[in-house]
Amino acid sequence: MKQVEDIRVVPLEAGLGPENPPCPACGEPLFGWIGSKEGLAGPVRRCESCGLGVVGSSGGFEEALREFDLLRTGEAVQIANRAGFACSLGSAGWFGLQPQGRYLFTLEAVRRLIARRDQVVKSRRWQPAASLAATWQTLLNSVTFGHNVALGALDKAPAIPAGQPWQRRIDALASVVLAIPAFLVALPVELAGAAFGRGSVYALSTELL
Ligand SMILES: [Zn+2]
Repeated sequence: MKQVEDIRVVPLEAGLGPENPPCPACGEPLFGWIGSKEGLAGPVRRCESCGLGVVGSSGGFEEALREFDLLRTGEAVQIANRAGFACSLGSAGWFGLQPQGRYLFTLEAVRRLIARRDQVVKSRRWQPAASLAATWQTLLNSVTFGHNVALGALDKAPAIPAGQPWQRRIDALASVVLAIPAFLVALPVELAGAAFGRGSVYALSTELL
């Protein structure tokens, strides 16, 4: 006779607590993702529902909206996609972990966050050059002591350099020697990401309802 197992279904909200504060975008609990890392304001939590990442303590949706607005240049807001393939691949080495960023956006997190002020995402455009650079740097981060060293040297992103001079010398050498191999891996990762809506960098335009 076939046995039917009694599986308890626990809603995500049941996980809310001091260690798991609510996500500023959607209100579901945030769970630990990455421990403290040099150059970041604190450990990083992420929302299992909309994917938003929060560095250090969470300040609520107003603060997340303010940081989102700071990413605007002209008509569009450019985000590094925390739900991108590069982020899944790189984890703590992901390019989007940067000293000044406290909220790590995904397309879904942006949708839910801006809905709080009656806005919608009108269009999203994958940014090929920025995305390739981001994935390339994420791959290099897995072999360097510092973080975002190559793009930092090119003045394209803030770097977190390694502490010791000998480590910085190895990082510079590794970034040069592995530049082409990393690009050859980054290319298919990013093309697949673009095809599945999981590219690294998107420009979003928003409008009021
Ligand atoms: Zn969320």
